[in-house]
Amino acid sequence: MNERVLITGGASGIGLGLAKRFAARGDRVAICDADGAAVARVRAEHPAFIAAQADVTDETQMEAFFADVERAWGGVDVVCANAGTGGPAGRIEDLKYDAWRACLDVNLSGTFLTCRWAARVMRAQGSGLIVITSSTAGLFGYPLRAPYAAAKWGLVGLTKTLAMELGPVGVRVNALAPGAVEGDRMDRVVAMEAAAGGKSEDEVRAQYVKGVSLRSWVNVDDLADMALFLASPAANKISGQVLAVDGHTETLVP
Ligand code: NAD
Repeated sequence: MNERVLITGGASGIGLGLAKRFAARGDRVAICDADGAAVARVRAEHPAFIAAQADVTDETQMEAFFADVERAWGGVDVVCANAGTGGPAGRIEDLKYDAWRACLDVNLSGTFLTCRWAARVMRAQGSGLIVITSSTAGLFGYPLRAPYAAAKWGLVGLTKTLAMELGPVGVRVNALAPGAVEGDRMDRVVAMEAAAGGKSEDEVRAQYVKGVSLRSWVNVDDLADMALFLASPAANKISGQVLAVDGHTETLVP
């Protein structure tokens, strides 16, 4: 395809999975990530990628990363605003304000900065696709995870609004809503929720499957399949949508 694809939080998990799949179909890939060691691994394993250590909440670092990408490519075709963090788990009356703010900063404000740059570039070129990673937590109430759910619902508002602002100039904006994805991150989330809810990790894992019609977790390639579809000509009339890749979540209530 030879498209120019930028992915935030691209040094591990879903972001790295997307990066590999876009690269495998012949696209140029740029990733940024706050984790310097993970970025170094990406540089070693994928020398063709542009890979920068940059925190999506740091305007200066992000401006520098975006400027490098613009200098190298002169534009961008696909931006995956993927960087996110799980935030704290607990009853709202016990949550710390700092933890709330940190969760909103990465998931919501970091995505704002990424989309602001993408919109400037894509409006000027009259084309482009933005894919924002929300979550099934952006579609349902999610007990004990209020900051994360609030941030991911916020991303749905951002998606719908940017699709309206940018649609007239030929830019599509959609959100991905992954269910529980097999991998390190969900291992950490399960451990955190088990501790917060006084349950075993096995009980928490069973809860996730029980609330899903297909009774299964999702894997990174399921999400990459959807991202590649959105970036294909077959999806050229799809904008403003929140596309759940989750086996059909019925509830996040334990
Ligand atoms: P992950 O923790 O494996 O990867 C996230 C990456 O983002 C990491 O490399 C991390 O270093 C990076 N990152 C975190 N904060 C950052 C920041 N401030 N600036 C730049 N990079 C930062 O998690 P993942 O599962 O790959 O999650 C990717 C996205 O998918 C997130 O937005 C997450 O909320 C969302 N999501 C994940 C799941 C799941 O089950 N894993 C489910 C629904 C939604």
